[in-house]
Amino acid sequence: MLYKTLNNGVEMPQLGFGVYKVDEEDVVESTLKAIESGYRAIDTAQYYHNERGVGEAIKASGIPHEDLFITSKVWNSHQGYNKTLQAFEESMEKLGLDRLDLYLVHWPAPEHDLYIETYEALEKLYKDGRVRAIGVSNFEIEHLKRLLDTCEIPPVVNQIECHPYLQQHEIKAFCKEKDIFVESWGPLRRGGSIFEEDTIKRLAQKYEKTPAQIILRWHIQENAIVIPKSVTPSRIKENINIFDFTLTNDDMADIRLLDRNERMGKHPNEMNIME
Ligand code: NAD
Repeated sequence: MLYKTLNNGVEMPQLGFGVYKVDEEDVVESTLKAIESGYRAIDTAQYYHNERGVGEAIKASGIPHEDLFITSKVWNSHQGYNKTLQAFEESMEKLGLDRLDLYLVHWPAPEHDLYIETYEALEKLYKDGRVRAIGVSNFEIEHLKRLLDTCEIPPVVNQIECHPYLQQHEIKAFCKEKDIFVESWGPLRRGGSIFEEDTIKRLAQKYEKTPAQIILRWHIQENAIVIPKSVTPSRIKENINIFDFTLTNDDMADIRLLDRNERMGKHPNEMNIME
């Protein structure tokens, strides 16, 4: 497993296990499978309603927390300084941890204009030693600029939708300049037609890998942190087995041509739901 050194010196695995839309029951088994398969980072959130299951899996794995890297996120409904502190305590109780590795503001929800205040609560948790690193998710450049102008502790990552159909080169360049890692969510675009792209199929043949492995390897070589999700044991293993080959510059350039600025999720400026 490759690790990336975040801008505060903390080491984060470059590939982790995402658990969005995995219910509290299934999440125990699939997270355990992931840890057994070598994953050391788990990406959950208050909104996923499965933190208790993730916590159970961590305990059952027998791997000490120091060797794992657990991320959670505060949901829009808990934006604001005090509500965020409360959401954090609830997440920690469910996860059964006393210290989190990474805590993120899930969406900027700009209509409500609370993300700066919300991030101040993350800074307090960081200063208090409750969390080893803090960051944001779904932040556009305009949100990042505003945050960087006011914050004391810069975010270590910006977790955004990113895959070959939405390559996010502008945000990536901005984040690189500011020493913030891009973390790709929906890295496989949840499967389907993207696996049928000629370029992806050709590279899968060339390297004797699957389309999913080619796409995940592309994220790694784009210097992104990546958190694919699966509940299927064989795919959980497949998705981490990407560290034994390297795409050439030409292969990377060919995948770059697939960009069509096409999202699965909402644009962050339109994601203002609070419930
Ligand atoms: P993903 O791109 O990881 O796709 C997951 C789906 O792809 C699986 O359900 C399965 O259908 C398919 N798949 C996975 N591995 C496969 C394989 N090897 N072969 C064939 N099909 C395969 O999408 P995601 O779950 O939305 O994103 C990953 C993680 O990112 C989430 O679980 C969550 O932790 C995080 N996330 C964050 C946000 C955010 O707003 N910050 C939003 C969505 C997801």
